[in-house]
Amino acid sequence: MTYLAVPIAAPDLDEAADQITEAIAAGAEMLELRTDYLEALSPDLVKNLVTRAKNAGDRAVPTIVTCRDKQQGGAIAHTVQLRIEVLTAALRAGAEFIDFEYENYLDIQSQERIRLALSQSSRGRLILSTHNFKDRFDDIGRLHRRILTVCPPAIPKLVYTANHINDCFEAFDLLHRTGGERIVLCMGRAGLVSRIVAKKLDSFVTFASIDEQSATAPGQLTIAQLKELYRYDSIEGDTELFGVIADPVGHSLSPAIHNACFGEKNMNRLYLPLLVQGGQPEFDLFLRNVLLRKWLSFRGFSVTIPHKRSALAFTKTAGGMVEPLAEKIGAVNTLIVTAQSGLKAYNTDYAGAIDAITSGMGITKARLKRLSVAVIGAGGVARAIVAGLSDAGAKIKIYNRTVEKAQRLAGEFNCEFAGLDELPGLDAKLVINCTSIGMHPNIDYTPLPDGCLDKDMAVFDTVYNPAETLLLKQAKRAGAKTIDGIEMFVNQALAQFKFFTNQNANTELMRKTVVERLLE
Ligand code: NAP
Repeated sequence: MTYLAVPIAAPDLDEAADQITEAIAAGAEMLELRTDYLEALSPDLVKNLVTRAKNAGDRAVPTIVTCRDKQQGGAIAHTVQLRIEVLTAALRAGAEFIDFEYENYLDIQSQERIRLALSQSSRGRLILSTHNFKDRFDDIGRLHRRILTVCPPAIPKLVYTANHINDCFEAFDLLHRTGGERIVLCMGRAGLVSRIVAKKLDSFVTFASIDEQSATAPGQLTIAQLKELYRYDSIEGDTELFGVIADPVGHSLSPAIHNACFGEKNMNRLYLPLLVQGGQPEFDLFLRNVLLRKWLSFRGFSVTIPHKRSALAFTKTAGGMVEPLAEKIGAVNTLIVTAQSGLKAYNTDYAGAIDAITSGMGITKARLKRLSVAVIGAGGVARAIVAGLSDAGAKIKIYNRTVEKAQRLAGEFNCEFAGLDELPGLDAKLVINCTSIGMHPNIDYTPLPDGCLDKDMAVFDTVYNPAETLLLKQAKRAGAKTIDGIEMFVNQALAQFKFFTNQNANTELMRKTVVERLLE
């Protein structure tokens, strides 16, 4: 059983009581009373706070009382004497758990006082915690054993900063190979995923905040995100995992649409945001980490910026299957993990984009023949679109910031190429933005200077967040036809869902989820 705990961090009793009511209403299964945030901290105040927590809401939730040492991330520097008095008072008031720092517990006097307080409590239990706010622990396994050697009945809590998602795997390993009650989590953006996977791997507690402002640790999700976006209540030990490998990943709508469709079909599957920073080596290490650990049950991935070519290279090196179309495009946006921990690689961008263009322009695929097209960008999406358009016989000119990349792509598909400085003179019936220019949060940018578009053109922006980019606004003003990135996004996601599950997703639910998220 994993408790979903919400930290209560307030300067006074009234604000703490409001937070408690909110947390319970939002679905908290446990409260962590961070008493180190209380400004006029005293044992009586904490007694009062615990009593309030016990009587709040319409259901009883267990409480952890923490008075964190400033050295270990505490809010206010209280003396160790006061912190132990506070924990003792909390136990007397009926708190189920007190959290004390393992490093401070090694001090014999502190240890004796904590033991005495616990011996006088009928049900109070000790969480011995340790934090590393900078990095991984030197040897997390040894630290876990040491905590249990010093105090066998304690619940060890080991929390460290993951500077890369690859740092999370030792937390997963520890949870996988140890039994009993233990809390193992990673902090930071790269560690966010550990807060969700904690439930699958049976961590005793995972933490979520009431809202983004009240987060008490970097990378903490809100309770609403955990429950609504990441299907927290349905996560089990055998839940199959999927995810989008990207950097940045925060803007991605893929978790929302795939989880909505998994939820609608009651599937025991979960889709995660996987922030994989770095290039080919870091990408390769991430996939090797995943494939080595069958028990994580990762079954498939969407791959996007900037890893689509890395996904192709890794699959080939690992001896996996690459569909011929993805090989020709030179980019992969979908990976399937086989039962033997092998990989199959696909590209669903190509058909998704061509369908979006033909339906957006109201033409058949045959009418793409000899159509003059300006493709801006030479990355993964550009490759897929150039391959599709070239297959259909269009006349393509590729513009890119790095001209050599445009030249290489043009050489492969027999097109023209230029740098972005030549965009003002463009002469095309269809203009396609395949760069991330204009993508959230940089929504005030456009790849085209004003005055390049006219009413006989169609403009397709593959960026889907926001749905109406500055480029599309320019196009509308010029009277051109516009095609937004949502259509392509939904098309490629439908194809991915089919690869992931062998079933068709609910198209309308996907579209609705994308639009709702964008409106948020
Ligand atoms: P990618 O492989 O990393 O390629 C990025 C492209 O954008 C490169 O051509 C790069 O130029 C260019 N670029 C990036 N920042 C730039 C800047 N500040 N100024 C000028 N050029 C810049 O990425 P990708 O996977 O092709 O994705 C590109 C875009 O497609 C993203 O915005 C993504 O949101 C969108 N997309 C849409 C869908 C959909 O379904 N609608 C699906 C996937 C992706 P250099 O070569 O010079 O670096």
